[in-house]
Amino acid sequence: MKFIVAIDGTAASGKGTLAKKTANHFGFKYLDTGILYRVVAYYLKSSEIHSEISKQIVQDSLRLLINKDFKLSHLRNEEISFKASIISKNKIVRDNLLTYQREFAMQEGGTVLDGRDIGTVVCPNADIKIFVDADIEIRAKRRYDQYLKNNSDSNLNLNDIIDDLTKRDYIDKNRQLSPLVSAKDAYLLDTSNITSDDGLKKIIKIISRKLEK
Ligand code: C5P
Repeated sequence: MKFIVAIDGTAASGKGTLAKKTANHFGFKYLDTGILYRVVAYYLKSSEIHSEISKQIVQDSLRLLINKDFKLSHLRNEEISFKASIISKNKIVRDNLLTYQREFAMQEGGTVLDGRDIGTVVCPNADIKIFVDADIEIRAKRRYDQYLKNNSDSNLNLNDIIDDLTKRDYIDKNRQLSPLVSAKDAYLLDTSNITSDDGLKKIIKIISRKLEK
């Protein structure tokens, strides 16, 4: 069985947690597509490459993700978040990651992908599309609490995070290629005033209804 769930949304809207829990619930495979853009940004920064981005650079970056000594925590900070949204405007980056994401999505047994353009560009024929959003203050507070919990970026304050998320959403929504926008046939899920479990229940209901058909 092939069944694709596309979960898109703004930065720190909770889409990643919801996507992961959805995949767990149904036993589907899960891909956080943001991590692909983040690892390219990290690779470019750490190898101090100054040449044009090429297919080879994107492939070398992705190889980091299967290196067991590589720590994913290197990718979860505001610097890499911002750099990822800059390099994600690049056509060579997007085209090469597109192939990777589509191959992942087409696997047997059901898949969940979360990102910015899954329902619009990567998998326009996805079986279920969800677009997640929440008020900026609420998203920033959640991200802030996450950093405190992980003891990372301890110099950050809430206002810095509000600024960072606002800038990143602006870049993502206004870029020429695959901008962040809800697909016309996506279910809108505002997580401002609901818990992650409530959001998950709603998604499970939507998917279950479709699977029963
Ligand atoms: O989802 P996450 O915050 O980890 O994504 C980091 C950045 O990667 C986003 O701000 C966006 O610029 C880019 N991205 C994208 N398309 C996706 C996933 C992420 O352009 N499908």
